[in-house]
Amino acid sequence: MLKIKNVLIVVTFVFAIGCAVLSKETKERKLASVENPLCEIPCTNNTVCMNTFTDKGAICVAIPQRPNTVFSLPFDSETEVVCTHSSGSGSHSGVNAFYALDLATDYNKPASIIRAAADGVAYVFLGEDGNLCPEPSGTPARSESSSCGLLWGNHIRILHSDGYISFYVHLDHLLVKNRSIVHKGDPIGVEGMTGAAGHRHLHWSIQKLPGNSQKDWEDRISWDGESVPFNFEATQNGKIKIFETESIACAHAGIGIANPSEQPRFKGVK
Ligand SMILES: [Zn+2]
Repeated sequence: MLKIKNVLIVVTFVFAIGCAVLSKETKERKLASVENPLCEIPCTNNTVCMNTFTDKGAICVAIPQRPNTVFSLPFDSETEVVCTHSSGSGSHSGVNAFYALDLATDYNKPASIIRAAADGVAYVFLGEDGNLCPEPSGTPARSESSSCGLLWGNHIRILHSDGYISFYVHLDHLLVKNRSIVHKGDPIGVEGMTGAAGHRHLHWSIQKLPGNSQKDWEDRISWDGESVPFNFEATQNGKIKIFETESIACAHAGIGIANPSEQPRFKGVK
């Protein structure tokens, strides 16, 4: 009996070491794939090799006409945000911002954490000199715009496995390093008013970059892409719903200038 017990202990010990080695290799493969994002597996004409986004490594994916990801509102489930600008007018009338949403938290409260809307690889962008854009003068309710960060201020682009990019703009500061693998819900930055922002808010959009491969998109990650309509999940009136950006209508109202009580409000999803 004692012998059997000893054998079991040894087997358990060896198995545990094996698991530790396996998990180390998995981790190293994931990190290595970020350093070398080139996909080498053959894909048919209708699919593109994408890497670095999940534990699956390189996979062939069909790039959809519209993102097939349901993005999650990049805020906490406890934090209420008010939409202060939706699609197609003013600063959201250009190709690179047409379907963007401006989302602001209560400016009497501390700035909110901003979270990744889906799994992907995060690329960070600061001011032209590589330093953080400073918060401009003014208040969270009404701030001075600046040209820092090519008008976007401190911002993050996350490349997702369906070839689309989520774009997080006007951040106070960033919580991830360049080329980090992020998962949906991970904290990536803090809401701010850097760049051309009239009040503290997140300018959020999903973009399509020109090109037909992961390499094309990584090469052009700093480009302004085409803002596309997309679906996102958020809580509204206590219920989790899926929204289409093109159906969100909020007047362009600086939160400190007009009363935003009529504007759509959301919370994140746990
Ligand atoms: Zn905006």
